[in-house]
Amino acid sequence: MAEIVYGSELSKELKGKLKAKIEQIVEQGGRRPCLTVFLVGDNPASLSYVTGKEKAAREVGIDGVVVRLPADISQKELEENIRRASEDDTVDGILLQLPLPAGLDDEAAIACISPAKDVDGLQPENVGRFFLGQNAFVPCTPLGIMEILKKMGCDPKGKRAVVIGRSKLVGTPVARLLTNANATVTIAHSKTENLPEVCREADILVAAVGRPKMIDSSYVKEGAFVIDVGINRVDGHLVGDVDFDDVKDIAGAITPVPKGVGPMTICMLLWNTLKAYEERK
Ligand code: NDP
Repeated sequence: MAEIVYGSELSKELKGKLKAKIEQIVEQGGRRPCLTVFLVGDNPASLSYVTGKEKAAREVGIDGVVVRLPADISQKELEENIRRASEDDTVDGILLQLPLPAGLDDEAAIACISPAKDVDGLQPENVGRFFLGQNAFVPCTPLGIMEILKKMGCDPKGKRAVVIGRSKLVGTPVARLLTNANATVTIAHSKTENLPEVCREADILVAAVGRPKMIDSSYVKEGAFVIDVGINRVDGHLVGDVDFDDVKDIAGAITPVPKGVGPMTICMLLWNTLKAYEERK
């Protein structure tokens, strides 16, 4: 039976450390870091994510500010709002909640975020810096995955890793982080042939696909570290990309869904906000 590693518990531990750091800054007369989240429109899932981020920020002593904008805002007005926050000295981190309502261009809007405040790590300058090996903000889910591997006692050095998914947000950056950590990495995607066979090579298997329970034991090498990034809603329940019950007896360690990678994403967002604050001082 695999060790089940809960991101919910690890994130509590890391948020505790973050809170202590922020309290120390405040005791020494510093201002609190500030995270501004832009929410455009009233998509219920986005609203719930944004509320979660604001609450988590407040828990650790970060000023979380949600700026709500109407769904019919023009691209120009949206960009002006983001530029204003980018120029505002009291704002340390900026996040634009995705997806945007139809008709708005998310890439153009994200490009307006100051690279120094881009705590989601999606602004083109940051992405370039990250892939050039320079100091940069890295997307939060991949950062959370690396923390989970650490918690699992997994040093990627010399290991074979397979990442299923090549998105900008998860698959591509986590593959880069694993390469930086000296794993030998394969990125698989919808056109990969013989996927189960490819995955069975993996000491570290990261599933970021968006297909409920797709990864069963036929994809998993005995003793592998299995990270399930997927968040899929099935009959009102959240399920991952990994068939947990089928895989748990063969994996060495595994993350559940919910309470796995999800809570770590928010936790890393808060750490990125502190990084932005400290680097802007
Ligand atoms: P995307 O839809 O952007 O990417 C999915 C990737 O999976 C693509 O690269 C796609 O390949 C690949 N893929 C799709 N079907 C198959 C298949 N049958 N076989 C192999 N590969 C396949 O998703 P995201 O990366 O944004 O998210 C992935 C999952 O992670 C989703 O469930 C999402 O909800 C969840 N997520 C969870 C987060 C968390 O905090 N826990 C944060 C962000 C996302 P191709 O490129 O060829 O199309």
